[in-house]
Amino acid sequence: MERQLTNPKVPIILILVAAFGSVCFSIGAGFFLYRNTQNLVTARTWVEHTQEVLLSIQQTSQLVERLDAEMAFYGATQHNDSLKAAQADSVRLQNLVVNLRDLISDNRKEDQNVQALAKEAEILHIALSGLDLGRARQLAMRCQQTLSLMTEQENQLLRERMQASRDRAQISIASQVGVLLLSILVLAALFSLMVRDVLIRARIAREWAVTTQQLEETNHELERTMGSLERHSHDATVLGAYRDELQLCASIMQVYRAASVRLPQLLPQTKGALCIINNSRHTLETVASWGDPAPSLSEVFPPDSCCGLRGGRMRWRIPGESEIDCTHFIGLSPARYVCVPLVAQGDTLGIVFVEFSDVASLKSVQEREEVLHQLVQLTAMAHASLELRSKLENQSIRDALTGLFNRYFMQVALDRELARATRRKSTLAVFMIDVDHFKSFNDRFSHAAGDTVLREVANVLQKTIRSEDIACRYGGEEFTVILPETTEESALERADNLRMAVEALRTLVDEGLHTEITISIGIALFPAHGNTSETLLRQADAALYRAKNEGRNRACIVTDGATYTV
Ligand code: GH3
Ligand code: MG
Ligand code: MG
Repeated sequence: MERQLTNPKVPIILILVAAFGSVCFSIGAGFFLYRNTQNLVTARTWVEHTQEVLLSIQQTSQLVERLDAEMAFYGATQHNDSLKAAQADSVRLQNLVVNLRDLISDNRKEDQNVQALAKEAEILHIALSGLDLGRARQLAMRCQQTLSLMTEQENQLLRERMQASRDRAQISIASQVGVLLLSILVLAALFSLMVRDVLIRARIAREWAVTTQQLEETNHELERTMGSLERHSHDATVLGAYRDELQLCASIMQVYRAASVRLPQLLPQTKGALCIINNSRHTLETVASWGDPAPSLSEVFPPDSCCGLRGGRMRWRIPGESEIDCTHFIGLSPARYVCVPLVAQGDTLGIVFVEFSDVASLKSVQEREEVLHQLVQLTAMAHASLELRSKLENQSIRDALTGLFNRYFMQVALDRELARATRRKSTLAVFMIDVDHFKSFNDRFSHAAGDTVLREVANVLQKTIRSEDIACRYGGEEFTVILPETTEESALERADNLRMAVEALRTLVDEGLHTEITISIGIALFPAHGNTSETLLRQADAALYRAKNEGRNRACIVTDGATYTV
């Protein structure tokens, strides 16, 4: 039923059927009314015809009456005029009878009467012509009787015809009323069908409008979902690529480079920078940036100039929502930006700063805050893990107090350098260095002051040696320096320079109190004093022993199993 109602074909077929029906009905009704009217007109014509016959009979009767009177007058007066008038009237009577016969030719019943009347009129005329007044008057009476009979019959016929006419008229009125009522019914049916059709169409249109609106909304929803899925997929791809890249990074600089490429990919229409807190923890330094022109961020700025770092969480600067500006900008602060602290393992490493040129780019990143968060977290984790790795590596090969390579590394490095020198057939020198009277220095100025001295001596070593030389802390207050491709002469010269540089040191050991320190150096040469690291170190140690014995603050070199001093 519901389907029929909502099917627009159904009312159209109904309307077509109804229209066809109403056309047929109109033609039928018209034809019926036409026939009815024709019948009515015919009945009326017959009534009029009967009335005409009656009038003619009446005229004939009046003529017969006048003829009889004229004949009676002639009989009484013998007046010729009366006879002539009577004879003329008898002729007129015959004419009237002929006329009457024409009028009632359709009526068989009357036919006999009119035949009789014609005969009587004819005989009357003959009798009158023969001046047989008695017979003539007798015939006039018979004519009157025939005319009375005819009048009676015609009156009967008139009544019948008038009744028939009235019946026709009533039938006509009834049929017209019927046709009118049927027309009204047909019109009402058609109108109701049209109204129903209009209502159905209106409902379908409404439903269609609702469906169209729903379809449009579904389409928009679908487009939004597709857009968001595409964005998610793009974000996931870039984040995955960034994660893979970070795993391949061997140095923190590579992390910075990867960040400067991936951050703008994930945060399009923005500019920004990665700022890292330096080792002293006093300043942040911009290590990577994106956007053209670059963000108006200071190259170096203190941590407390950033609201994000002060608050310890992601901080959006949006007009109308947060009005306080960070102070790490060159010139005016941008209108919209976000500072995200880089935190790994509870340690704050720096910030990721993102600047938005318009509201649309801000909204796009705000909607994907989780992506920004992941990005920052990945960067922080990579930074922290590389820093930790480098710290661990340093711890395993470097001495914690002085930052020089440790004894283990020295051993490995010496073996490597000896192998290289053997390959290249070049020379190599080994310095064994010992701080003079260090025990008494410690005792005099404290162990901490001793540590300071060791760090400063290490600094002097670092500064004095060439980049290819390797300085190590051998242990306690003893140091070793490996000097590839060094001849005896240059070894002696450089050992003496080193000794003098340490001698020139003035270490602040107490408030306002500076003290001097000296070192003794033992020198062994490859291949002159040995081919192995063990021999060379032993020879250098022997030379050092010699330098100590000779009064310290000097350098001694092994010569032919012995040593000499510079
Ligand atoms: P010499 O001139 O003969 O070398 O005299 P010395 O006092 O330097 O010799 P010794 O080997 O007897 O003393 C070495 C001292 O170095 C002993 C120790 O207290 C000190 N020392 C070793 N390692 C450290 C260190 O890491 N820090 C400090 N402050 N002192 C250290
Ligand atoms: Mg010593
Ligand atoms: Mg010593």
